[in-house]
Formats: sequence, structure tokens, C-alpha cells
Amino acid sequence: MTLPSTTGFVVGIEGPPPAAPSLAMSGQRVTVDIRGGGLHASGWAIQGDPGAAIATASGDGVTVLLAGELHHRGSDDIPEIGDIPEFGDATATLTDAEFLLACWQHYGRAGLRLIQGRFCVVILDAGAVVAATDHAGSIPLYLRVLAGSLEVATEAKALGGASAGRNPGVTAIPGTAPVPGLADVRRVRAGTAVTVVPSSGAKTAMRTWSPPQHREMLAPAKAVARLSDALTAAVCTRLDDGPVTVVLSGGIDSSAVAALTKRHAHGTVTTVSLGTDAGDEFDAARLVAEHLGTTHHELRVGSEQVIRALPWAVAAAEMVDAEVLEYLLPLVVLYQQLPGGPRRILTGYGADIPLGGMHRDTDMVGSLDDVIAHDMATFDGLNEMSPVIGGTAGHWTTHPFWDRSVLDLLVRLEPGLKRREGIDKWVLRAAVADLLPEQTVRRPKLGIHEGSGTTSTWTAMLKAEGLPDERVAAAKRAMVEAIHRRVNCEGEPPALVDVDEVLRDAIAADRVVAT
Ligand code: AMP
Ligand code: MG
Repeated sequence: MTLPSTTGFVVGIEGPPPAAPSLAMSGQRVTVDIRGGGLHASGWAIQGDPGAAIATASGDGVTVLLAGELHHRGSDDIPEIGDIPEFGDATATLTDAEFLLACWQHYGRAGLRLIQGRFCVVILDAGAVVAATDHAGSIPLYLRVLAGSLEVATEAKALGGASAGRNPGVTAIPGTAPVPGLADVRRVRAGTAVTVVPSSGAKTAMRTWSPPQHREMLAPAKAVARLSDALTAAVCTRLDDGPVTVVLSGGIDSSAVAALTKRHAHGTVTTVSLGTDAGDEFDAARLVAEHLGTTHHELRVGSEQVIRALPWAVAAAEMVDAEVLEYLLPLVVLYQQLPGGPRRILTGYGADIPLGGMHRDTDMVGSLDDVIAHDMATFDGLNEMSPVIGGTAGHWTTHPFWDRSVLDLLVRLEPGLKRREGIDKWVLRAAVADLLPEQTVRRPKLGIHEGSGTTSTWTAMLKAEGLPDERVAAAKRAMVEAIHRRVNCEGEPPALVDVDEVLRDAIAADRVVAT
């Protein structure tokens, strides 16, 4: 099994390496010291594959530093690159960093619109620094611009801490968004390449992807066939020769991924289902695992233990949306509890956004599409797919439904294909109907926060301290904000945060407000 050689980094360019307080939480750190384009970058990279070299490549004075993996296999995907004399027919054996460099050398900045993958990259070229995310911003990327220098990191907390506030006011960076609680750190938006010239302070941005706004009418059979092809390709490009794990709830999304994985994987396919004392989906997951013949595990943990993982979830996602954290919490615990070493993990995460799966009660197809357009316009910054979520336990996670081609197709589909004959996510169910038990294909959606009892347990823990119903949401948010301040803004290790104490503090603060 291979994991990406580099899953994250923090570098200072034309300045000292940043402080990088708790970056090590997401894996093994190695030193980075690279030169290119007349610039010098130093700091640390996080190794996905222990022992692998950092994912850098240099040529013609240009240097790239890549985190994550590209979804190109050889020159077939971008034939033009095969014509570059330096690489010739060797594109099939290029590393991802070399492939990206070749693309950059051939197309310049525009080449970033071609690249598909789960990645972010820093490029040093002719005195300029380019920091770019993939279409979904699935590996978050942060910047801090200082006088004559620049810091770039895959975790905001690496740029905060003691040195934060040194240079407030440098916030007008196109293509970036603020980070709560870290005044001079900026997040590169999804599908964006930001260029900064440290010597002059010039800053520009270019979009490399944005969610399609238009929709396409397709005959149902054609839509089903196209989705089947796109999802199959997305799963295949995420597999290697070794073993692979699918986190399986037994819902249609993760079951579709498990079925395609089992069909196309070269190594052992393991499926894992998490349950708690407050709920599980074990029967539904087992039905799928037995049908497919995967090596299946059930893991049961205490429901309050899931809530006590909040500091890890907040440290990984570096945002303050309590509702989204309820989806991430069970996954954080699942990844931490998996036995054995680092794994390559596929998930069904994210299918509901382009398919409108959360909106079970929307009957009007028009309003379903409005909800999808809204959700696609607001995903950026939630960091739901940050590799740190699995990376804190050494794993590499990847999400076939947010593959650029799958996402492009799903978003564009006419909403009547997403809700049809009263069935939600109809097109997906039809696309995998032959691969799964009928009961699975018909199974209604259950969110991970519901199935695992995460939402109800957190609520019950607050109410047990006397908090009234109507203030539960505000107290959850207060807890998340307090943890975010400590672990992401002040650099406190997540292991040191006592969640029960944070909960009592949130309730005490609520009493003060209430009186
Ligand atoms: P959901 O909120 O149900 O869409 O969950 C998102 C993804 O998380 C699913 O597609 C699965 O890959 C994974 N997942 C959800 N629930 C579980 C569970 N109980 N055990 C293992 N994986 C799960
Ligand atoms: Mg589910």
C-alpha cells in the first residue's frame, strides 16, 4: 500500500521557518529546505508514507512542493505533457510533483486548471510564490503575508500561536478568506491559485474550478450510465496495489463506494462500521459486507467518548461549525480506533451535497435544486475533507463523490434525476442497483450524526447539566469556539483539553447571559 509521500507542510518563504506549534499531531515531520525561482523556502513537511522523500520537484528554475495525490496516471490524461522533451515518454513514471511541474512548465499558471486530484501545492517561480488548492479545497491551505516574506501551511494553527499578530492588516489577499480567531492568517479558497511576489507584495488570484451553476437534461438511462462510469473511475484512481479500507455505514453512499472498491481493488478490502451505546448501523453495514465479501469489522465505542474527541475534530477541521463537527466526530474516533498501522481509506462522504440527500422532505424539485446550489456555494471553509481528520491517526482518507469529474456531473444533473418517484438520490441508487442487496438500494438516508447517536448524546450531556432545549445549539457553538481558540489559535495540544470542563464552562457562561 502507498500513501502520498507528503500530506501537509508549513514553510516560510524568504523568511525564517514558522513556529509550527502542534503541526506534528498530523504525522511524522521532516525538514523542508528548497530553492526555486530565486526564492528560498524552509520549514517542515508531514510524511504520509514513512521513509518516502518529500514531494518536491525542480526544473528550469521552478520548484514545486505538493501535498496529497494527483489523479492522473501517465500522459494519457494530459497528452501534451508527453511532448515535453525533458520528460518524453517517461510521464507514466513521473511522481505527482514531477507531473505537476511538467504541467506548469508547459501551460504556466493555466495548467492548474487541468490538474485533478486531492492536493494542494506551492510553486516557486521567477520571484513569485503560487499557492493553489484542488477544486474542492480538500487539503486546506493557509497564508500569512509578512513584509518581504510569506508563510504557507496546510494547517492554520501552524501560522498562529506566538508569532501571530506581528503584521496585522495584511489581509487584502485576493482568492482568500479569513480564518476565525487568527487575524492575519488567510485561507486559500477552494479551486483557487493565489500568486504573491514577496519582494513587491503584489498579489493576484485565479479560479481553477467553481461549482457549475447550470443544469443538464439527460435521459435517465444516460445519466445512470454516466454516473456509473464516473464513480467507477473515481474509485479506481484512488486505489493502489495494496489493501484498502472503506468506512461503511450501510447507506447507499458508502455501500456504492464499497461495492466498486471490492470489484476493482487489487488488495484486500476491509470494511469497518462504527457504533456506540447510543446507536449503530451494524445490521445495514453487515448486510452489504456479506453481500460483497469484504473483511468486515464492527467497532463499538462509548457515545460520550465520541463527544470527548471534540478537541481532535476541531484541531483537524480548524472551523467552528458545530453541526458539521457532529458528522466529523464519529469519523475521528473511528480513524483513531482502527487497529494496525496507517491505512488508505475510502469514504462515501459528501455525496449528499450535490445530490441533495439531506433534504429528505423537499418535494419540489425546484427547491431541491436551490438547496443544492446553496450547499455548493457554501461548502468552502468547512474543511470536511481535510486529510488531518484521518491524519491524526496516520491514515490517508479520500472521497470518490468529490472527485472533480463525479462532482461536476452530479451537480449538473437536472434535479428530477436526484429525486424521482419519491426516491432520494435516485440516480445513484439506480447506478449501483446491480451491485448491492435490494434492501440497501432502497434504504433511506441516515446521517452519521444520527446513526451513531452523536447529536443526541452531545445534547443529552448539556441537558444533564440543566441547559434548556432552546439554548443547546448556542452552547454547542460556544464549546466549539472555546476549543478552537485553545487548540488552533493558541496552540494547545488537543490531548490537554478537558471537554467536560469546556462543557461546564459553556453552561456557566450561558447562565450569566440568561440572568
Ligand atoms: P453520512 O452522514 O451517513 O452520509 O456519512 C458519511 C460517510 O461516513 C459515509 O458515506 C460513510 O463512508 C461514513 N460513515 C457514516 N456512518 C458510518 C458508520 N456508522 N461507520 C462507519 N462509517 C460510517
Ligand atoms: Mg449514513
